[in-house]
Amino acid sequence: MLRRVLLAASTSQRVRRVLTTAPVTGGVVRRFVAGETASDALAVVERLLGDGLTVTLDYLGEYTAVPEQAIAVAQEYVSLIESLHVGGFAAGGRAEVSVKPTAVGLGLPEHGQKTAAENITRICAAARTAGTTVTVDMEDHTRVEATLRLVEELRADFPDLGCVLQSYLRCTPGDCQLLARAGSRVRLCKGAYSAPDGVAFAAKSEVDRNYARCMRILLDGDGYAMLATHDPRLIAIARSRATARGRSPDSFEYQMLYGIRPDEQRRLAAEGAQVRVYVPYGNDWYGYLVRRLAERPANLAFFLRALRSRS
Ligand SMILES: Cc1cc2nc3c(=O)[nH]c(=O)nc-3n(C[C@H](O)[C@H](O)[C@H](O)COP(=O)(O)OP(=O)(O)OC[C@H]3O[C@@H](n4cnc5c(N)ncnc54)[C@H](O)[C@@H]3O)c2cc1C
Repeated sequence: MLRRVLLAASTSQRVRRVLTTAPVTGGVVRRFVAGETASDALAVVERLLGDGLTVTLDYLGEYTAVPEQAIAVAQEYVSLIESLHVGGFAAGGRAEVSVKPTAVGLGLPEHGQKTAAENITRICAAARTAGTTVTVDMEDHTRVEATLRLVEELRADFPDLGCVLQSYLRCTPGDCQLLARAGSRVRLCKGAYSAPDGVAFAAKSEVDRNYARCMRILLDGDGYAMLATHDPRLIAIARSRATARGRSPDSFEYQMLYGIRPDEQRRLAAEGAQVRVYVPYGNDWYGYLVRRLAERPANLAFFLRALRSRS
């Protein structure tokens, strides 16, 4: 119930205004977001790579309403990738980027698919020059079909373009079957949005069970699996399935969010696993932060306590 309320708040302009102007917000944001600028993000990248982790960078922003803004977001990614290259962070995909399709135009009222395809193509071309990769994030359920179609089309020119599947959706095992093939890069997550019952599982236990099922399909297949979860039980299942299937540590990776379970990230890396940290940066952090609060009531309590202590 609380999760649904918070997810509704993640798209509310009124709540956004109140939260983004509250003086306390900065401290909470800094726990989950690298900073406002690309140089803030690069400093975090350098630190995480130094700790034996890999990184995917997300320039915050979504549901872009005008084509000029979508082009500006793509330009930010191109400059970011060039900075990763110059800094020596991109080679071998040590630091890559994650792109939200609606940030680069997918939701535009006219020519959304075409605009997003052109923008992601520019980003992929820059990534190829720098020796790194791009992963297209998955947003709410109304965008899934268009996003998968977009990735499929772009993979003709950029076969290493990654995509994301969400275990809260009932259709995801079928999508995993289709994508568990040689050359594909698939991130599996639980899903950070809400969706109607017919489309998604409502109970957390069902989402978790579906995650385990999808993970097995990906690990049993021939693609590169990117297992995005902080859930210790699912990480243990992943480890034993990968061992049972004879998967080498470089044929799959764990992924976690910046600021969540950092000790576990380092512990897994020290064990020899590949661990990638998803690092968001930028001003437009509101939707991202509220989704993180929705995932864990303790985060919300922390935020409210901080608000009270300032009032
Ligand atoms: C690298 C990465 C990329 C992602 N990309 C996408 C995407 O493209 N599309 C999408 O819809 N979703 C994405 N997500 C979000 C994902 O769908 C989940 O909402 C989120 O990861 C929480 O699910 P969980 O698997 O960690 O399991 P949960 O059951 O939510 O959590 C398991 C445990 O992890 C810890 N934990 C989880 N969340 C938090 C938190 N916010 N604060 C503190 N501790 C926490 C807690 O110990 C909790 O008990 C991504 C997640 C990751 C890690």
